[in-house]
Amino acid sequence: MSAGAGDRIGTRAVHSGFEPAENLGAVTPPIYQSATFLSADTAELEAINEGKKRGFVYSRVRNPTVLAAEQRLAALEEAESAVLFASGMAAVAGALAPLLSAGDELVALPDIYGGSIRYFNEMLPRQGVTVHWAASPAPQDVAACITEKTKVVYAETPTNPLVRVVDLAALSALAREAGALLVVDGTLGGPMNQRPLELGADLVIHSATKYLNGHGDVLAGAVAGSRKLTRSIRTLQQASGAVIDPNAAWLLMRGMATYPLRMAQHNLGGIEVARFLAAHPKVTKVHYPGLPEHPDHELARQQMSGFGGLLSFELADAAHARHVVDATRLFGIGPSIGGVESLISQPGNTSHHSVTAERRREMGISDGLVRVSVGIETIEDLIADLAQALEGCR
Ligand SMILES: *Cc1c(COP(=O)(O)O)cnc(C)c1O
Repeated sequence: MSAGAGDRIGTRAVHSGFEPAENLGAVTPPIYQSATFLSADTAELEAINEGKKRGFVYSRVRNPTVLAAEQRLAALEEAESAVLFASGMAAVAGALAPLLSAGDELVALPDIYGGSIRYFNEMLPRQGVTVHWAASPAPQDVAACITEKTKVVYAETPTNPLVRVVDLAALSALAREAGALLVVDGTLGGPMNQRPLELGADLVIHSATKYLNGHGDVLAGAVAGSRKLTRSIRTLQQASGAVIDPNAAWLLMRGMATYPLRMAQHNLGGIEVARFLAAHPKVTKVHYPGLPEHPDHELARQQMSGFGGLLSFELADAAHARHVVDATRLFGIGPSIGGVESLISQPGNTSHHSVTAERRREMGISDGLVRVSVGIETIEDLIADLAQALEGCR
């Protein structure tokens, strides 16, 4: 039953991480909702502790359901190993924990998730880590921030809400030359659309809350990479405690089984909605890397195998943006991305609410910008809904 090395992603998503034959033939993994595991005797307990016998002792250290989901995630990323966390932000913190000590420096690319910006500005300095923000994702601007103290280059691609694509091969060469590690938040693409590890990243992070789980019912985070790096991440996770609950891991395991199928539909919906919007007279600009006019289209074609379900578009002003957001019927108004249901929002009052209007303009986030996470509903219905909403812009 288990997936082999030659199997493609759709097969690995279904068959990896779990052996029915070892579980009474059950077709889905059991949820081991147990904090503690008992040993037969002291000798067994010691053998498990020393790694001489496969077994479990305590769920902050290791839990069979969590382990199954971790193995499935590693199989999707084609990584040696993966560690799951209680949320995407716990994964960001957990991935960096063993890489940075007081006196070290981190170079961050400018367009990253708001929660990560907050973590870098409010948490890392308290730990004695200096954060340098690159002026742009261009390799020369990143290189300008690197010093002999740089331990990590941190990037996110594609970005939100302008869906820019960052050149990971160039960044990995830069990081390597500086003796630093490249850590990439790949949440928006996921392992179906891009595999940062293949392009030279040392670790890839996911908010598994988004596409990997996809059903809006779980908060989860993940880090994947070499066994050597994930081992040190796991050691500090055991010390700090931000583990995922077995029930959440089971839901994520189920979500990952359909991730490639869902992502294929998100990719289709993304390009079709983007093309519809680009041809609409009320829309002044569409930000989607699948469109030839997008500034990173060529890079996206090389680096990604699908362009994803997130896009944004510009209308004449904030009033039009507000009207379209409120007039859609199928698009829920809310933050987050990557779920089966389509969502719509104005970055100015959601993801970038805490950023001043002036800084937003500098970042290219206009008042008329609308962001859409295209779900897996029938694409014609989504387009008809956007059409009727745009109709009302006067
Ligand atoms: C949502 C998100 C996160 C944070 O994940 P949580 O699961 O909400 O903690 C990190 N990075 C990106 C790109 C995200 O979209």
